[in-house]
Amino acid sequence: MNEPQNIVILGSTGSIGRQALEVVRALPDRLRIVGLAAGSNLELFRQQIQQWQPEIVAMSDAEAARKLIEYSIPNLQVGSLEDVASWSSADIVLGAIGGAAGLKPTIAAIEAGKTIAIANKETLVAAGELVTRMAREKGVPLWPVDSEHSALAQCLVGEKIENVSRLTITASGGPFVDTPREGLQHVSSLQALKHPTWSMGRKITIDSATLMNKGLEAIEAHWLFGVSMDKIDVVVHRQSIVHSLVSFVDGSVKAQMGVPDMMLPIQWALLRGERTCGAPPHLDLATLSKLTFEAVDHERFPCLGLARQAMKLGGVAPCMMNAANEVAVQSFLDSRTNFYGISDCIAHVLERCPRVERPTLDDIYQADEEARRLAHEYFSA
Ligand code: NAD
Ligand code: MG
Repeated sequence: MNEPQNIVILGSTGSIGRQALEVVRALPDRLRIVGLAAGSNLELFRQQIQQWQPEIVAMSDAEAARKLIEYSIPNLQVGSLEDVASWSSADIVLGAIGGAAGLKPTIAAIEAGKTIAIANKETLVAAGELVTRMAREKGVPLWPVDSEHSALAQCLVGEKIENVSRLTITASGGPFVDTPREGLQHVSSLQALKHPTWSMGRKITIDSATLMNKGLEAIEAHWLFGVSMDKIDVVVHRQSIVHSLVSFVDGSVKAQMGVPDMMLPIQWALLRGERTCGAPPHLDLATLSKLTFEAVDHERFPCLGLARQAMKLGGVAPCMMNAANEVAVQSFLDSRTNFYGISDCIAHVLERCPRVERPTLDDIYQADEEARRLAHEYFSA
């Protein structure tokens, strides 16, 4: 029997982080926690430390981090997010921080040569070219955790990428799949947080309601699989059973199916593509009466088109689009703007995007900051 793999979870108090801990709990001979990092939920984080006995931890919230040091828990090192991401005994780093805040620790993990399991799609949207190039140069594998990308990767096992004709990402359509445009102008964040098929963190749940999540995922797929954006489609599949599909040059189409539950893609990534029983629930085909596929209504859901526009602009545009979206989603959650305020803000920021050929990391950080400033200005005008 092999030694268990040492796992670091960045974002352990979040939806993905907590489910990843369930996956680890179900496979104690295969996976062991050595590092945890989170934002500000000190109460839950302390419970996790007690339960999992990691070697190193970090909290990005300064006050929470200070309190953690004061507790002086024996045999526990408190460091920065980057310290946890590059911790010497770690084999695999699960990136499950929300937003572009995940970028710096992901880069630290890649530089330290760690295998990455990536849930944090915003990192690939903001700096996909750089992050995937660094990973290639370091020989670091990037295992997708996002269910659609896990599905695509599972369909691609044993296949040649040059034989792929299209990637099709499925979308549940979110809570407003049937809401007319006039109605969408008045939906509240509470309504948007009621996702029909998935249980997730607040930001990604709003992204699912606007379909920006699919825009981010199309970009994520482009960087992970090297397939051009014009060969990546999105279809609405309300049941969330088919997680994505790959079409091949000979007309064959492969799909991956499963219960809408993140345990399976998390486990598949942490076991580096190996299959075993464990925590994920199983699909009962007899309970499914139908599987449907429909086109996206771009008029009602402009965010997907904005994501494609950002990729056409290239350079720092996807990074600025992502940052503008993060600010706009928070404004919507705080009831400071309406549903279309999100796409309007992103369009406003994209119009002000500077042209930067082959951006460096510094260009990316600067563009992220500038987009957040422009977005805040947009909402305070
Ligand atoms: P969440 O909001 O539930 O959790 C986010 C985690 O990140 C928390 O632990 C939080 O403390 C931590 N965090 C936030 N800001 C931080 C910062 N500045 N520094 C350090 N830690 C910080 O979010 P989630 O739903 O778990 O999503 C996490 C990531 O995974 C996102 O990028 C999301 O798009 C992606 N993802 C999530 C799901 C899902 O089912 N939840 C599915 C696919 C992809
Ligand atoms: Mg997804």
